[in-house]
Amino acid sequence: MREPIDLHTHSSVSDGTETPRELIAAAIEAGLGTIALTDHDTTAGWEDAFAAAAGTGLTVIPGMELSTRVGHASVHLLAYLIDPDDLDLREETLRIREDRLSRAEKIVSRLAADFDISWTDVLTQVSDGATVGRPHIADALVARGAAMDRSAAFRDILHPRHGYFVPHYAPDPLHAIELVRNAGGVPVLAHPATRGIDALVPREHLMQLVDAGLFGLELRHRENRPDGVAILSGYAEEFGLVVTGSSDYHGAGKPNRLGENTTERAVLERIVHEASGTMPFFG
Ligand code: AMP
Ligand code: FE
Ligand code: FE
Ligand code: ZN
Repeated sequence: MREPIDLHTHSSVSDGTETPRELIAAAIEAGLGTIALTDHDTTAGWEDAFAAAAGTGLTVIPGMELSTRVGHASVHLLAYLIDPDDLDLREETLRIREDRLSRAEKIVSRLAADFDISWTDVLTQVSDGATVGRPHIADALVARGAAMDRSAAFRDILHPRHGYFVPHYAPDPLHAIELVRNAGGVPVLAHPATRGIDALVPREHLMQLVDAGLFGLELRHRENRPDGVAILSGYAEEFGLVVTGSSDYHGAGKPNRLGENTTERAVLERIVHEASGTMPFFG
């Protein structure tokens, strides 16, 4: 497993703007040695990513970013090296993806009261079989001239404060961690300090997640806030959690650049050693 190592990226199989093939090409162009493909709630991009990486020297860590929820707050769980055929995990991700679809339709009907936007506009933005999310609605709004870019669409229209937001189904993190572990995967909490310390996962709750099998915290991520990271670093040490870093690259959909945060080789080795669902793909 070569460095630099970027353990969190998205392709057009969810809300990234590049196909898995284009993403792999971009990773090589950026000089990465290892990349994890972690599309939201799906493993559908893995095979294309492997095929594109074959013979290039790039290592691909197959993964997924699983949607979970605590009350109103959405919590993302990175799941590395899961068995893609695990039935329980497949059933749960299918349920999430289906509810994401009907939820997106509901958001669009709310938007249609104030904007020139239809469900067809959104479907135009979604690749075949991809996990649908608000970024695709943002892209449709941009295409209709209602916003400058994705970030503006999120800030000015899609943020819950504007009233168009509808949540989607997601399991609680404890159950999600169990599902990932049962599928042989290694769960790492994605960008856990984005919301400020009032909304930080409480120590007792984190302890429960660790007991259920949580393996690490993604502390090097551009959206994490330093005060939260400082607290979580202490917990990571106390509970023996690994600390990862990554870009959360979405192609042109976000300013995040490949390799802007990275993970140490020794940490990735621990993740791979811990996993039993799938092997890394050595391209
Ligand atoms: P959803 O899961 O459908 O509610 O949409 C959340 C997704 O939107 C996240 O995974 C991010 O990738 C993306 N997102 C959130 N905020 C922004 C933003 N300000 N600009 C671009 N993408 C965003
Ligand atoms: Fe995303
Ligand atoms: Fe995320
Ligand atoms: Zn992500």
